[in-house]
Amino acid sequence: MICERCNKREAVTVVGGRRLCSLCAKDEIIKRVKRELYPSKIISYQDKIIFAYPSYLKLISDIIKNILISKIYSKFDLEYYELQIEPQSSITDDIWNIIIKSRAFAEKYNIHKIFLPFTADFLMAYLLYSIINQEYTYIQLIGFEYNLSNTSFLIPFYNTSLQELQGFLMNDVYFQTRDEVFNDILSWEKDMLKENYELFHAFHNSKKLFERKEYRCEGCGGIINSPVKYCERCSLVYSSHPY
Ligand SMILES: [Zn+2]
Ligand SMILES: [Zn+2]
Repeated sequence: MICERCNKREAVTVVGGRRLCSLCAKDEIIKRVKRELYPSKIISYQDKIIFAYPSYLKLISDIIKNILISKIYSKFDLEYYELQIEPQSSITDDIWNIIIKSRAFAEKYNIHKIFLPFTADFLMAYLLYSIINQEYTYIQLIGFEYNLSNTSFLIPFYNTSLQELQGFLMNDVYFQTRDEVFNDILSWEKDMLKENYELFHAFHNSKKLFERKEYRCEGCGGIINSPVKYCERCSLVYSSHPY
């Protein structure tokens, strides 16, 4: 099948419902990221940013890094740091770890923007995982921006699935965490939703259904049930090292 945009090259994937070749697919994704970032003017000249990622999402973090540093902000002379986090056996621990460690790093170097490589597949799996476990701690991560005091966590691929990133990837990529339940959800998604790409753009609003609880942990931003300062995970860390 021929690319629906250039009508020249062979289509390799589907982006936003159109079958595209790898060049056009990459271009569409870059434009999509630009549309999220430019109007907010969140990145300024010579800004300092962090790319934080669990090791199983390194490839995706590299794609974001290339788009930002070599494409859309190539003239901004950005200073960037990369922070790889080793995975835990629970996805909630992975998320907590990545937030806490990158936040500590950011404070040390006076940085306020942290990029996370979560894709729409990952976030949708997290939504399902939360429903299964009845624990919605990081449900607010489902979206473009997650704010925590003066730090912004930015998720440029929150509405982009792995399938749509195929133009950047050599092989069929899929990631595996160390959480077995989460991996099962990911592979279920891959099988069930393969051709239903639109779902990956539509599920974000469902998080509102679960945002009933008002309290947020001051350490990681996770949702907690009562008006205490820290969630269980953070209270272990912050009570011994008060900031
Ligand atoms: Zn094309
Ligand atoms: Zn916390």
